[in-house]
Amino acid sequence: MAKMLVAGEWVDGASREHVPVLNPATGEVVDTVPQATPEDVDRAVAAAKASFPEWSRTDPEHRAEALRRGLERVRACQDEIADLLVREQGKPTHEALAELNHLLHGLAYYADLASKLRGSYVPLPSHLGTSFGLVVRRPLGVVAAIVPWNYPLTLMGTKVGPALIAGNTVVVKPASTTPLAATRVVGLLQEAGLPPGVLNVVTGPGRVVGEHLVAHPDVVRVAFTGETATGRRVMEVAGPAFKRVTLELGGSDPVIVCSDADLDQAVRGVLVGRYWNCGQSCLAAKRVYVFEDVYEPFLEKLLAGVSRYEPGEGWVRPERPKIRIGPLHTAQQRAEVLAQMQDALQRGARVAYGGRVPEGREQGHFLEPTVLVDVPHDSRVVQEEVFGPVLPVFRVRDMDEAIRLANDSPYGLGSSIWTSNVRWIHKAVQELEAGMTWVNQVHYGYDELPFGGTKQSGFGKEHGVEALDYYVELKSVVVGGLG
Ligand code: NDP
Repeated sequence: MAKMLVAGEWVDGASREHVPVLNPATGEVVDTVPQATPEDVDRAVAAAKASFPEWSRTDPEHRAEALRRGLERVRACQDEIADLLVREQGKPTHEALAELNHLLHGLAYYADLASKLRGSYVPLPSHLGTSFGLVVRRPLGVVAAIVPWNYPLTLMGTKVGPALIAGNTVVVKPASTTPLAATRVVGLLQEAGLPPGVLNVVTGPGRVVGEHLVAHPDVVRVAFTGETATGRRVMEVAGPAFKRVTLELGGSDPVIVCSDADLDQAVRGVLVGRYWNCGQSCLAAKRVYVFEDVYEPFLEKLLAGVSRYEPGEGWVRPERPKIRIGPLHTAQQRAEVLAQMQDALQRGARVAYGGRVPEGREQGHFLEPTVLVDVPHDSRVVQEEVFGPVLPVFRVRDMDEAIRLANDSPYGLGSSIWTSNVRWIHKAVQELEAGMTWVNQVHYGYDELPFGGTKQSGFGKEHGVEALDYYVELKSVVVGGLG
């Protein structure tokens, strides 16, 4: 039975109720976690609030050192944590290890930045007497970090890293279906020397626990990653108190493959971009627009690549040259993806590869990796976020058509283009409505670069030095009396 971490103590919820965490590949219970109540949230926020004054005054080097010691502990337990992640989330072991490494890299990045944060000195006009200005950065207070199930570790790290380093204290709310690895990581960070209450974790349903956390008067900052509909609700709840909110929401990233693209590289990028994490990534490559003169060879190479994926348990290594693809995270998730695919098929789309639920694996939420062609652009697989391994591929005449179709989406998270033509690259960077454009690269959230969407993909940035700006307030100071 897992527990929650509140004020440095492992605790059960006030209700004493526990709920099971299920393995998406087998349906088996991995462990149970407390079903927190609003009372538990109050306790966690109170602990975070109590620890804020001292933590916010600590030397930044000290904060960085505490985090680094925690990272060493997490690294020492990486196989155990990755195994937990595979069993609660469904992803293959090599992907779980990659996620853990991304978490460690991201937290180390912020630990390294801790002592490098600066304010500014501003010369001022002298009509009121000689004075100068300073702009100083001050931590905010208690931060709520609300995390989805697709990347439970990295998406916790993108919030906890900058929040702690800037001097804030944190209450983490992991997704109900993936609380185990995240809670284990929080525990290791705590054991390595964070003062009690600086980092807390509460488990329980988002609509109760998450919403109470967002609404709590002592929570001043909400860092949320999840679905667009939930993000809208978070805004409604946080809005009346003018809380600082960042929303990292859904995406439907387009990929443009031009006539001059290195097709092997482009196919590799699309395969990783679409089928990593069984297609359950916000920044997944979700629609591909291929110039008509390279459409056929691209499709042929793509289908050859897709045929290498073998659905199966994440902890079982497939025989080469097969590549493991895990199950979808929940039965509901798979049903939704199948319904989106069905809608496209009813409107005239064709399955070029996959499309079926594999036989003999009824306990898990498996789905064959799928490629669709001849898909109408107003169908659900294009206009909605498809959170699963289904990829529509389109033939386009030229760059204008590619960009027009790429932008025909309510989302604006990422986008990519495969070409060496500098004019096309420039056009894509200028005209694609997205928070990020990768050029000849796989969709990936680099720790060093700000990441976040436009349109219905939300607002605010995670990653990079820029993310720290969302965890501090700027205070202007005017210093006079200089004689
Ligand atoms: P959800 O929005 O369902 O849940 C996200 C988190 O919010 C969970 O911890 C959930 O808890 C909690 N939550 C649910 N309802 C509320 C509420 N009313 N108030 C506060 N918190 C609440 O998202 P998913 O977990 O399904 O995650 C997948 C989504 O996340 C996809 O749309 C994906 O694109 C997006 N995402 C965006 C990224 C980005 O950077 N833009 C990155 C990765 C994913 P519980 O689990 O208990 O319901």
